[in-house]
This record gives sequence, structure tokens and C-alpha cells, in this order.
Amino acid sequence: MIVRLLRPPSDLAWANVFFAGVPYPMLAVEDRWFAYVALGQYIPTGGYPLEVTSAAGTIASGQVTVTDGGFLYEEIELPPSSIGLLSDQEAINEERQTLSTVHAGFTQERLWSGPWIMPAVGAITNSFGLQRSINGGPYSGHTGMDIANEAGTTLVAAAAGTVALAEELFLYGNAVVIDHGAGVFSSYNHLQAITVVAGQSVERGDPIGEMGETGFVSGAHVHWEAIVHGTRVDPVLFTQDGIEP
Ligand SMILES: [Zn+2]
Repeated sequence: MIVRLLRPPSDLAWANVFFAGVPYPMLAVEDRWFAYVALGQYIPTGGYPLEVTSAAGTIASGQVTVTDGGFLYEEIELPPSSIGLLSDQEAINEERQTLSTVHAGFTQERLWSGPWIMPAVGAITNSFGLQRSINGGPYSGHTGMDIANEAGTTLVAAAAGTVALAEELFLYGNAVVIDHGAGVFSSYNHLQAITVVAGQSVERGDPIGEMGETGFVSGAHVHWEAIVHGTRVDPVLFTQDGIEP
């Protein structure tokens, strides 16, 4: 969600918006301030207070109502040979730590403008939030969107930014993470080939790699994520006009 401060005090030097106990830094754009605030897929429904604070204390407040996401539930069976990766908790933890460090190192300023584009041509085979149980295990929510096509299909940056990670991970396989600034990242996973390097600037639509099936995967597809201050949200939200601050 986007929090906008439409009539900021004229001498405002900084502001944070507090949501669910977490402070999010606000940025100035034209005559207003804004912040992207993450609503994770497991946040309880109900009313939440919003509070904007600065050097002068609380300068604005409001209320947000979180409603049910309506995510679908699915049970799937996979042969034990295909889920072996899931038992290597040490490698999974290491991958999680690598990504947390990347997500914490975001560029303050917003590096993109305009709606994002889809990163590949293909069929959408899984949406964000799908609650999936593998072989009778606990349900786990899908953290991105899957777009499937032939291995080798070109993948492009959904929006402008700086490549923050371009390397082989564990479950994610060959991965590219783009820092879009303002606490927002996108990631592209299970690639057959990576064609960018960390530190490189990319524009919306620039090629970044090729679709593949590396990591924990069955079949060629790209697992596309959007991350807001460390929390995965539905990347499709960023393709909509209303995402502009
Ligand atoms: Zn996926």
C-alpha cells in the first residue's frame, strides 16, 4: 500500500509512517510525501492505526482496514526425489540471509517511474498468495507470480533500477534482484542464464537473462517477486497506474 501525506508542514525535513509497529521512511515528491508500506500475506485482517511522525512528533494519523486476500488453497504430491532440496535447512537459511542483507541495502531515492511491465511473455501458472501444501505438509504461501514459457525465453527488467544481486542461489536457482529504490525490489528466479551483473543500472524492458529451471522447480518458468522493505507482495500491484506516489 502507498501512504501519502498530501499537506505536509512546509518545513518538514523527514517523516516516518508507523504501520503495525514498523517505521517506514517517507520520501518527498513534488508537493507531497509518500512511503510504500508492505502488507504481508499473513497479516491478520482488521483495523490498523497509521501514524506519521517527524521532529515535531505525530503530524498525521489515519486508519487502515485489512481485508481477506482470498488466496486459493492447493494440495500437491511430489516424488520424494524432487523435494530433497527442502531438507537442507542450512542452505535455505543461508539463502534467506543473503536476500535479507540485499533487501536491507536499498537505495533511498525512488529509481523508477510509471507502471512496471511483465518480465516475460508466457502463461501465468501460479499467482501470488496461493497457499500450497506439498505431500500433506503445512500450507505455505506462494511468494511471487510464475510465468511459464520455453527455457531460453528472454526476461526483462520490470522497471528501472540497479542490479543488487545476480548469482546462483539455492532454492531460487540463478537469480537477479533489482533495487528500485524507496525500499522496493523485484526478483527474477530459476534462470537458465543471467546477462547482467551486480551494480549495473537497468531500464524498464532491458534484458536481464533467460528463463530456465534452476533451483527448486519443476519446469521452465520465472518466479517473479516484488519485495517492499523485506516483505514479499504481489508484483502485479506494481503494474497498475495507482502505484505512482
Ligand atoms: Zn513461483
